[in-house]
Amino acid sequence: MRDTSVERIPGIVSGLRHSFGTGLTRPAAWRREQLRRLRGLLVERGAEFEAALLADLGKSATEAQLTEIGFLLAEIEHALDELSGWMRPRRVPVPLALQPATARVVPEPLGVALIIAPWNYPLMLALSPLVGALAAGNAAIVKPSELAPATAELIARLVPDALDRRAVAVVTGGVPETTALLAERFDHIFYTGNGRVGRIVARAAAEHLTPITLELGGKSPVYIDDSVPIADAARRIAWGKFMNAGQTCVAPDYVLASAAVLRELGPALRAAIHELYGSASQRNPDYGRIVSDAQFARLTGYLADGEVLVGGEHDAADRWIAPTVLGGVPRDAAVMRDEIFGPILPLVEVTGLDDALGFVTGRDKPLAAYIFSEDRAVRARWEAETSSGALGFGIPALHLAAPELPFGGVGESGMGAYHGERSFRTFSHEKAVLSKPLRPETLAATIMPPFTRAKAALARGPLQRFL
Ligand code: NAD
Repeated sequence: MRDTSVERIPGIVSGLRHSFGTGLTRPAAWRREQLRRLRGLLVERGAEFEAALLADLGKSATEAQLTEIGFLLAEIEHALDELSGWMRPRRVPVPLALQPATARVVPEPLGVALIIAPWNYPLMLALSPLVGALAAGNAAIVKPSELAPATAELIARLVPDALDRRAVAVVTGGVPETTALLAERFDHIFYTGNGRVGRIVARAAAEHLTPITLELGGKSPVYIDDSVPIADAARRIAWGKFMNAGQTCVAPDYVLASAAVLRELGPALRAAIHELYGSASQRNPDYGRIVSDAQFARLTGYLADGEVLVGGEHDAADRWIAPTVLGGVPRDAAVMRDEIFGPILPLVEVTGLDDALGFVTGRDKPLAAYIFSEDRAVRARWEAETSSGALGFGIPALHLAAPELPFGGVGESGMGAYHGERSFRTFSHEKAVLSKPLRPETLAATIMPPFTRAKAALARGPLQRFL
């Protein structure tokens, strides 16, 4: 696939801006039509998307359906069901002092959105923000990740054909193409990826005062205590961690637990991994591959950071790393500094709850934190004392499948949120509309000069209560 020529980029943006200016994208009917066509594309060409995801990430067809295609279909269905409610202007109360008047919050599209996607869920993370952008009535450019080339090629080939080309474009390429895009003025930039590039995006957006959503990563901790059935917790932790070979932004990054819990957890994770992927994950089609040689080299470098309790085998030619659990990991090891983003799960010993809370609050705010405890007081402390994009009690990652929950990070893990209605709001401006009849003129006697004694008294008294 040829990358989009950098020279074409300004023209693509101005074409979309022109289309937006004509009002093309605003009607509910146009938005619905685009969402239906996107749904049709995902259903009719599902097998091709599955094949691309297999080529890029060794992703099984079932996992592709569960985490990418099916996720998108559910997102589209939800948007189609809810769109008229989301678009409806919301009447809000007016203070007594302003009456008679009516006030409404009217959502309007922002204009032209830029969506920059990463490689780990290369279809879902490119098109899920697009669902929000289209539902909100915007024109949009999607820039898929060059590190998932088969999926990027398919998106570039199929999406503009399926949707309205006047308002939706796909730009392919890597740093030069994204840099050229970022030089243009957009009305919203939605970036998913790492914090280093997130900063580049934020700087570029600042030039045009463009609002941004940054969906970033980080080290999402797991805390587990002895109040839960360890085998059940281990199965869920292993599922969340080793899905997509650990290359999931909301995957559990590491586990904190007491020495006694860790003694049980190691064997329980071994059993869970065996249950999910058998004894030979390299031959198991349900288990994925590392996206690139560079990522493979980075990940295998972590294997020396602890004692290999489970897995550890790897094959560079196949970019396969077995689901791996590391024990006895020092807190300052490299595997505990960087976001792992691969199938390696370090277990870190803590002395107790306070130690675990201190460990997490002493580091960057993560995208998610997962607590396995039946003790309500323990759960309440995690909820009250730590900050993270999301908090999962007893379950990793699945908060992203509840469309009413805003999905996003905080601090180093990002800013802004999406999914469901939050996607619609992210790509909308909420316009404040106040409407007051010219007659009767209530303002002359209250807030307009000349400021008589009576008005001065009003300003110091009743008006303060009624404004
Ligand atoms: P990536 O390397 O594919 O980069 C993401 C996008 O940034 C790509 O489209 C790429 O072309 C572009 N890009 C790269 N360098 C650039 C530059 N110098 N200037 C402009 N654009 C540039 O993906 P990645 O960043 O390796 O993705 C992994 C990260 O994303 C992890 O940190 C992960 O946690 C995070 N992530 C977050 C979420 C979320 O929803 N919060 C989801 C998935 C991944």
